[in-house]
Amino acid sequence: MIMAEKPQVVNNLPEDIETDECMSTYTHIYSPDLLIDQVAFITGGGSGIGFRIAEVLMRHGCDTVIASRNLEKLTEAAKKLSSTTSRRCLPIGMDVRQPETISAAMDETLKTFGRVDILINNAAGNFLCPATSLSFNAFKTVMEIDTMGTFNTSKVIYDKWFKDHGGSIVNISATLGYRGQALQVHAGSAKAANDAMTRHLAVEWGPSGVRVNTVAPGPISGTEGYRRLGGSHAESAGVFRSIPLQRAGNKTEIAHAVLFLASRAASYITGAILVSDGGAWLTSANDVERLLGIFSSRSAKL
Ligand code: NAP
Repeated sequence: MIMAEKPQVVNNLPEDIETDECMSTYTHIYSPDLLIDQVAFITGGGSGIGFRIAEVLMRHGCDTVIASRNLEKLTEAAKKLSSTTSRRCLPIGMDVRQPETISAAMDETLKTFGRVDILINNAAGNFLCPATSLSFNAFKTVMEIDTMGTFNTSKVIYDKWFKDHGGSIVNISATLGYRGQALQVHAGSAKAANDAMTRHLAVEWGPSGVRVNTVAPGPISGTEGYRRLGGSHAESAGVFRSIPLQRAGNKTEIAHAVLFLASRAASYITGAILVSDGGAWLTSANDVERLLGIFSSRSAKL
């Protein structure tokens, strides 16, 4: 009898490290000069997925601006990013909820670099909370950061530069709203609005040479989102075995999806939502009881 050969598991993952440090080694998949001398503006680029996006874009020849509220954290991050990649990284303090701070940040970007080619709307806030315990203010705050912040930043950059020069916008979304993820009504609603915004702006701004796309990550290790949303509980409870690719993703995998959409590799792609989640949203349990358990144990500690 001829036995069917067991398929070889492909485990050719890109490098990543858990912390907000640059990777000690990096293997290019794309040409290292894919983004040569372009400039990317990355909200929330001082930590987590945003930090790794900044690093990967810079390793492809791009200069970056990393912008969020905590200037001290950004300044530290910018030093690490520049010394590893030998590209320029400008840290700017701003709040995506305040258009005047975005406007000032964009003026500083144009003064420093003379151009801006790519916008990554990555800033967001999230936590586990059942709808009954969620205050009106908490829901509003998440909508303000995730949804209004994405609109505010996109509109400022469009008015100041993209309208006349074109550009590429990549929004960082989530799959939470696809199946009504438990304890996530705030972030799921905000990201669903962003997915609609991706298509609206792609339609309106396409004639100006602006592409607008989205990457929707699944659970990504080594991030604040992963820690806050119970990623390590899920891992130790074996929950990730139900994901088709049977694991969490890493930050570099998300950065590669962003790099693809931001670059000329995706020159005819706009209005697209690229899910990068190992197939998780198709098969993972939407387990209210398990998440309520994590929520209650955290509330008890406060
Ligand atoms: P993170 O490290 O907490 O990143 C969020 C960033 O947003 C921080 O750098 C924060 O910097 C910034 N930010 C928050 N509020 C802001 C505001 N009002 N104005 C400007 N910047 C603000 O979290 P992450 O897990 O890497 O998440 C990054 C993105 O991926 C988010 O859009 C998230 O929804 C998405 N995502 C993550 C996962 C995951 O598993 N981690 C899964 C799906 C989607 P400051 O504190 O300095 O302002």
